Amino acid sequence: MKRAKKKKVARRRAKPAKAKRVKKKVSARTPRAKNRQAAQRRRGLMFVLSSPSGAGKTTLTRMLLEDERKNVELSISVTTREKRASEIEGRHYYFIDRKKFDDMVKSGELLEWAEVHGNGYGTPKKPVEQFLRAGKDVIFDIDWQGTLQLYNAARRDVVSVFVLPPSSQELRVRLARRAEDNQEVIDRRLRNAIEELEHWREYDYILVNDDLDRAYRALKSILAAERQRRASRGAKSGTEIEAAEKMRRDAQPRLADLVKKLQSEL
Ligand code: ADP
Ligand code: 5GP
Repeated sequence: MKRAKKKKVARRRAKPAKAKRVKKKVSARTPRAKNRQAAQRRRGLMFVLSSPSGAGKTTLTRMLLEDERKNVELSISVTTREKRASEIEGRHYYFIDRKKFDDMVKSGELLEWAEVHGNGYGTPKKPVEQFLRAGKDVIFDIDWQGTLQLYNAARRDVVSVFVLPPSSQELRVRLARRAEDNQEVIDRRLRNAIEELEHWREYDYILVNDDLDRAYRALKSILAAERQRRASRGAKSGTEIEAAEKMRRDAQPRLADLVKKLQSEL
């Protein structure tokens, strides 16, 4: 018993020496060491996009990934839903069966998970942690239930954006034009949109996806503002930050009316 106690003390004393050695190595002035230091200083942020199905979050996500290949990574979810014709395993989703999904939930492999439109969806934890540690921003295309779980896990690392369609008619048109789901699935998604819309106030930013290029520019400036905020440790000023704040304030009264209208028409 006594010996075990002694060992514990010895281990505790040994720690500072190890920490000192690591510090010395990182402070080397080679370009590689400097890059490593920069990555260690900046932990990536979790950039969440949610919307009623068909509003355009996948399109916006893909545009951002194209543009920011070096700095942004996509979190690829697992799902039990059927693969669409255009989808690629491991690029859009990992398509798994219900048993595997339940096992992943049980073993804690998912950072968050939810039942959406009758299927299981979830975010594998490991890749997200690796990207964030390497200083990359991670983009998530998840629903409101998943967003709330990320808030609970790491609110300060999360920036959330809710994408709205400009009208219910346009939402119907987009779902039909995507032409990847049958009518029954489309109808179910439209019904679920009413519930998804209930949660818009829980998001940091709201983006109306009318003109795609305009919406994309707004999305980019939100990301730039949040990066600037983090780089300057919570600063409330800065060109990008001020532009994003204005976008948030100006939008509020108009948005509540738009959401009400969408819900009544769906
Ligand atoms: P979500 O991921 O939210 O379900 P998608 O990104 O798949 O939605 O978009 C649904 C459909 O709407 C796609 O066919 C897409 O090309 C189209 N779309 C997206 N944004 C716009 C926009 N601003 N204007 C017109 N069509 C759009
Ligand atoms: P879809 O079947 O159209 O690809 O996605 C349906 C819904 O599931 C969308 O709202 C999408 O954001 C959400 N979703 C996709 N992956 C995840 C995930 O890993 N977790 C959660 N909570 N929702 C997800």
